[in-house]
Amino acid sequence: MPVLPVARPAGEDPRRRIPRTDRLLALPEVASAAAAMGERVVKDLVSATQDRARAGEIPPESVKEELLAALGQRTASSLRPVLNATGVIVHTNLGRAPLSPAAREAVQDAAGYTDVEFDLATGARYRRGAGARAALLAACPAAEDALVVNNGAAALLLATTALAGGKEVLWSRGELVEIGAGFRLAELVASAGARVREVGTTNRTHPADYRDACREGAAAGTVGALLKVHTSNYRVEGFTSEVGIDELAEIARERDLPLIADLGSGLLHPEPSLPQEPDATTALTAGADVVLTSGDKLLGGPQAGILLGRAEVIARLARHPLARAVRADKLALAALEATLSGPVPPVLAALRTDPAALQERTEHLAAQLDGRVVPHEGRVGGGGGAGVPLPGWAIALEVELAAPLRRGTPAVIGTVRGDACLLDLRCVPVESEDALVAAVTAARAEVTARTGTADGADGGAAR
Ligand SMILES: *Cc1c(COP(=O)(O)O)cnc(C)c1O
Repeated sequence: MPVLPVARPAGEDPRRRIPRTDRLLALPEVASAAAAMGERVVKDLVSATQDRARAGEIPPESVKEELLAALGQRTASSLRPVLNATGVIVHTNLGRAPLSPAAREAVQDAAGYTDVEFDLATGARYRRGAGARAALLAACPAAEDALVVNNGAAALLLATTALAGGKEVLWSRGELVEIGAGFRLAELVASAGARVREVGTTNRTHPADYRDACREGAAAGTVGALLKVHTSNYRVEGFTSEVGIDELAEIARERDLPLIADLGSGLLHPEPSLPQEPDATTALTAGADVVLTSGDKLLGGPQAGILLGRAEVIARLARHPLARAVRADKLALAALEATLSGPVPPVLAALRTDPAALQERTEHLAAQLDGRVVPHEGRVGGGGGAGVPLPGWAIALEVELAAPLRRGTPAVIGTVRGDACLLDLRCVPVESEDALVAAVTAARAEVTARTGTADGADGGAAR
């Protein structure tokens, strides 16, 4: 191991004692880190650590030690693991659905070369993602065929463009949804060439509204499809009425038009804990020609857009040029298949959490963390169940812990309410409880060190 310079005559510029780049890169730990995560990343860390010494933030003698610590924390990507203690199950900012152990394993297996479009038995090219398709059809027998694309938005784009491109899509004014980050589904559909024709009003839409629009468009042949969109992230209450899929299917059949149903959430079957949430089986049975859902909402899998429906309609979608632009990647196909055929995914487990069991866990951990147990409602999140409260509990800790917990490793994201930082265990895996306790201990130590400095009691803890 190279010997790093130490004692030098007084008066010499301490910056000259900062270890040279080539010496640092030659350290065995640094060389093996460079082999694992790439030269660029490691060289950047080396210069960042040297810069800290040049700026006087750390003594030159600590450069090696600090570099090794930084390498230990550095991961191959900048995405960091997070403990979701918000109680919001499908949290788009936190990556939506955490994958099941089976899905994680599948992603790992598919990461290298894999037979995603190849038949190992015959040696011939094969339908891409056949395994995911088979798993979808097994999980949702009401569908004759299935297609997987990049995400829910892509599924909507493909369905409307392929089935109504250039013509009108009839869409209730009560269902013109804006999803996260300001994206409006109607603008998305219009961007690819289908024309959005709004029918009805914000609060009430009737079968006659669709029938009238169909009749007006019939002569000119301008209507291309009927669309039903689940209002997944809001609820309109009061004097309201909407047209159900069964009635829409009847109107669609009268005019020989396709009926597309964008369900958003990803339930394949009715979910007893969310009685208002639409599901693919019910929608297909009611007469939708194709239903669209996301893979990473309540289905609890990877980001994906899932199209289920009549064989002839799915075949039309699969042949459309846009299908190639929105196709699913092999990692998502692998994870989706494993999610469908594997154990109950974490999203559904969190949704179905037994309140009594959650209370017991919360009380146990609160005692360990010296916190209070307070009632706290969990939420399904943008993925569905708008306005549905999920009764539960949280651990109330000092509010000053919120920021250090967020910046720690793993990052812990809670909710700040009044003068408390609330940690809801609904979406925290049981096996991560020790990590959560360690994170709270570290956050408290950081707060104490900082407060100590402010008091002048511990001048050495600056930073
Ligand atoms: C979430 C959602 C989408 C978009 O799905 P992504 O998978 O986020 O692209 C489309 N329609 C509805 C009704 C949704 O809820």
